[in-house]
Amino acid sequence: MDHLLNADLHCHSVVSDGTLTPEVLALRARDNGVELWALTDHDEIGGQDRAIAAACAAGLPYLTGTEISVTFAGETVHIVGLGFDHHDPALTEGLRQTRGGRGLRAQEMSEDLARAGIPGTYEGALKYVGNPELISRTHFARYMVEAGFCRDTPEVFRRYLTEGKPGFVPHRWASLRDAVGWITGAGGIAIIAHPARYGFSPNEEYALFTEFKAHGGQGVEVVTGAHSAAEALKYAGFCAEFDLLASRGSDFHSPDESHTDLGRLPHLPGPVTPVWERLRHRIHA
Ligand code: AMP
Ligand code: MN
Ligand code: MN
Ligand code: MN
Repeated sequence: MDHLLNADLHCHSVVSDGTLTPEVLALRARDNGVELWALTDHDEIGGQDRAIAAACAAGLPYLTGTEISVTFAGETVHIVGLGFDHHDPALTEGLRQTRGGRGLRAQEMSEDLARAGIPGTYEGALKYVGNPELISRTHFARYMVEAGFCRDTPEVFRRYLTEGKPGFVPHRWASLRDAVGWITGAGGIAIIAHPARYGFSPNEEYALFTEFKAHGGQGVEVVTGAHSAAEALKYAGFCAEFDLLASRGSDFHSPDESHTDLGRLPHLPGPVTPVWERLRHRIHA
């Protein structure tokens, strides 16, 4: 168990905004050479029992996972949790509350898009939703591609679903303190997901890492599908600066949309401590 392990500790199933089931993901991970896997659905752990069973049946070591939506300094930040007790009541309730506003937000998005000349997106998005509590911008994007408004989902986000665009509805997610607290309180490790994607200034990023540490956060994603090699090196440096464990995950959502497949990503750079070294006792095998 070293930094060369093919661990993939970040991906999504139909329980959030992925297109594959936990069972299909487990087989795909194993076939792609993954040696340690975690399913990290957004704001949801309802797929964990299925993932554990499928991973065990496939002979694939497994860590419980989730990816919690957090509002920090007015921006959305994602916190991955790994290796927690997925029956923990506070974590379960915190995630339920975090999911709570998604339905209303989706209806507002749909009304705003209708005013921008794109009708019927709420109903359209629902056709792609696997979990009624977890309607996501991704489901809107899939429908808007199907309906011919854009060529692919990144174009939908660029033109309609990001800040300042007609279908973007600001939303208040969990606090950083709560998200880290739910994960660590359930015996897991909290990790800042894909840090290079937030567009923070250096000062804001320093504040994020400092507050995350103060709340008990212990890790950062160094290698992810969304990081360049230079970004991976930058955050390996943050591991030393902030005394953090390094994580690795593809953020795979769908064979049609994700450019990084399960397990098909660079190794962790050498001088870091992998998060899995601190989670051996939490592995389902
Ligand atoms: P939500 O939780 O509803 O705000 O949706 C966030 C999800 O949208 C992320 O987890 C990604 O799967 C997807 N997403 C965010 N930004 C983009 C983008 N620029 N292109 C494609 N997908 C994106
Ligand atoms: Mn997603
Ligand atoms: Mn994310
Ligand atoms: Mn993700």
